[in-house]
Amino acid sequence: MMKRAMMSLWAAGALGAASTLALIPAGCAADAPSPSQPDADLAVDILKETVALRTAKGYGQTPAMAEALAARLKSAGFSDDDIDMPSMEIDGEQVSALVVRYKGDGDEAPIALLAHMDVVDANPDTWGTEPFTPTVKDGYLYGRGAVDNKAGIGALITTFMRLKREGWTPDRDLVIAFSADEETGMQTTRMLTQHEWVRDAEFALNSDAGTGSVAPDGSDPTFSIQSAEKTYATYFVTARNTGGHSSAPRPDNALFDIAGAIKAIEALRFPVEFNDITRSMTRNLAETQEPAVRDALLTLLETPDDAEARLVVEQSDARAHFLSTTCAPTMLSAGSAENALPQRAMLTVNCRIMPGTSPAAVQEVLERTINNDAIDIELNGEPVESPVSPVREDLFASIEAAVKIHHPDAKIQPTMSSGGTDGREFRRAGIPTYGAGSITLIRPTDFRAHGIDERAPLETYKNQLVFWETLFKDIAGDA
Ligand SMILES: [Zn+2]
Repeated sequence: MMKRAMMSLWAAGALGAASTLALIPAGCAADAPSPSQPDADLAVDILKETVALRTAKGYGQTPAMAEALAARLKSAGFSDDDIDMPSMEIDGEQVSALVVRYKGDGDEAPIALLAHMDVVDANPDTWGTEPFTPTVKDGYLYGRGAVDNKAGIGALITTFMRLKREGWTPDRDLVIAFSADEETGMQTTRMLTQHEWVRDAEFALNSDAGTGSVAPDGSDPTFSIQSAEKTYATYFVTARNTGGHSSAPRPDNALFDIAGAIKAIEALRFPVEFNDITRSMTRNLAETQEPAVRDALLTLLETPDDAEARLVVEQSDARAHFLSTTCAPTMLSAGSAENALPQRAMLTVNCRIMPGTSPAAVQEVLERTINNDAIDIELNGEPVESPVSPVREDLFASIEAAVKIHHPDAKIQPTMSSGGTDGREFRRAGIPTYGAGSITLIRPTDFRAHGIDERAPLETYKNQLVFWETLFKDIAGDA
């Protein structure tokens, strides 16, 4: 059973003697606990060590990273029997995932803890610091992967180490499952979902999908519990034509056909639809909007096909893309010479599909909408569909309580994202997956994942030690 978090214990300062967390005021909440200096230093050390490893695709560094983390864990008392580094070859590169079992003494199914060790590569020429030389300045640690997702890794590994050293035993297995190719293919993620310590998990917590943010003045702390993802699907829309000399144009032209397709997609609207997660997102979004937009959103909740309400939302800044499947033209290529009629014109269309709708069904809609026999539509690759994880009030209350230690005013809401984390593979494998974490970025200046000068705010990074310890003891504690 899930227990309510140890809020009262923290608030009262009544920590057990075994705990090494010191009650030093820090963070937004004046009397919130901070991690002890040695623990904070260890967490920063691990973050530096991992950022220094260029774990981008093709550099062969994920086995070194898995080894380095395993060595840390062993130094804290984890045995070889509880550490596995399953590896595979991807495009000629040997990559390793990391699985660590923190053995519990109860019978409940394990909880999986997710992060990814790989990063998107970075071009040093465009950065202010060296992307693979961790650099601390102005309260931040700069480096590729600092936020995405090595801050999640550092906090989870440090928490495992300190709880093990302290002699704490969970009442069910807590299993770290770190993937090695989240950014490029998720083959290791699929392997992890079948791992014998992981596959029976009751649910997974994904540190890569649990970031919070605040306004530049520190107000309005907002955290999401990612519980669903749209399906990412790209279609190639191709027109073919016999072509010919441009001095003798024909009434039919591959580019005229593509122009018609673009105009058809411009007018295309997929139906507004809701699941448990987006229903709650809609209510929360409505609260932050001016009256006309708020009313329109609430109208759509009752009457999803109300065209007038939809138009109001669409023309506002509400960014309510979670209301429906979307398709957007993104790239265009055509022709072979300036004086030749094109024999081929291709439009790339990127769609973000609501859970429960198949990419094949969206392709049918595109075909009907474009309605032109001179055009072929082809789906790129094999998009991965994943179901919505159910709302779990008990777990959400535990995450909320752990976040509120440092952000008592935080708004915390379940969300559906537009796609692309390990969570989709776990959900597809039948393991409900929820974003969890408390690192807090300033909107929008700290949103640098995949971009230049990525940086982790160190104080909130360190405070994640308190977040994870509190959450573990709540959901896997025998207190
Ligand atoms: Zn990530």
